[in-house]
Amino acid sequence: MESKKKTALKTVIIIIAAAAAICLLVFFSRSDEYTDSFIAMDTYCSVKLSGKDAEEAAKEFKEITEKLDSETLSRFEKGSLVYSLNENSEENIPESLAKYFDTLFDVYRQSEGAYDFTLGAVSDLWAIGTDNERVPGSDEIKAATGLCGADKLIYDGSSMTVPGGMKLDLGSAGKGIALDEIKAKSDSLNLKKCVVSLGGSVLVCGKGNFKVGIQKPGAAGYIAVINTDGAFISTSGSYERYFEKDGVRYHHILDPDTGYPAESGIVSATIIAQSGTLSDALSTACFVLGAEKGAELCLEYGCEGVFVSADNKIYATPGAAEMLEITDSSYSLEVIR
Ligand code: ADP
Ligand code: MG
Repeated sequence: MESKKKTALKTVIIIIAAAAAICLLVFFSRSDEYTDSFIAMDTYCSVKLSGKDAEEAAKEFKEITEKLDSETLSRFEKGSLVYSLNENSEENIPESLAKYFDTLFDVYRQSEGAYDFTLGAVSDLWAIGTDNERVPGSDEIKAATGLCGADKLIYDGSSMTVPGGMKLDLGSAGKGIALDEIKAKSDSLNLKKCVVSLGGSVLVCGKGNFKVGIQKPGAAGYIAVINTDGAFISTSGSYERYFEKDGVRYHHILDPDTGYPAESGIVSATIIAQSGTLSDALSTACFVLGAEKGAELCLEYGCEGVFVSADNKIYATPGAAEMLEITDSSYSLEVIR
């Protein structure tokens, strides 16, 4: 697990640097600003806050993220709820967590299984980002995909048992869930502006307007800017975590149907939502589904999506297109209607 950190840190800082620099330049005067950064959920996290409670809020947000990971969502930390569930023991699911599971089950169904938070057996085989990453044999992949499927979970809304061999993997949603908890906390504090980045998931809220950059795929800098007066924005990209073997690139977003890295014609999916859990889960779902089906899924949830293809096209839902400024002239915009 520890060895995963190197890759995550190197790649994710770029996203944050792009997005945060914009927000800082436009909206914060130096005297008013409190910034901090930390590593949690196996990724680089940063906060930029203004207002009377900024310093206290930064501490609270860090604690929320770390605690949620170590006590609840991590599948690697012994003692977390997900770790215990993956040992196949029956566990109570507190109400505060059940609402997030409801969302994840719903995205699983609405995406027809393209989003599946129970594919840990398949992610473990690939082990992307660890010292054990490798291309598994097709028989292993077939066996592991047979163990997945959120519909096989035994869950009644308050207690859950994971069937033998199945492993929950909340890597696609943990940062979004943490941002929802952070937003709820921020509402009880005296903050003027609030920018919280947890890896590729960002919360911007407070007074005024914000600009969030969409990273140039696999490179430093950004290709477009999203203008918003407050939102949760998550990006899933095939350039974030991957390894290469015999000239082939294998990335970390998997197609639950095949057990192989998803190939849907896009290199990143960015979702703009009013919930962190939704933005994070949908960004993964939409990456697997591709631009057209991804856009349909976004609209079902009242969310907006921006999908970048390898041939420098930016596909956007109509609402996203209105928020979007293309800043790199080698990219062109197509609105999905
Ligand atoms: P990141 O965590 O890099 O920001 P994502 O939010 O897209 O990116 O989550 C990717 C992680 O989610 C993978 O590392 C893996 O743990 C898990 N995952 C991969 N494919 C899927 C999928 N189709 N559905 C749900 N979770 C997935
Ligand atoms: Mg995600």
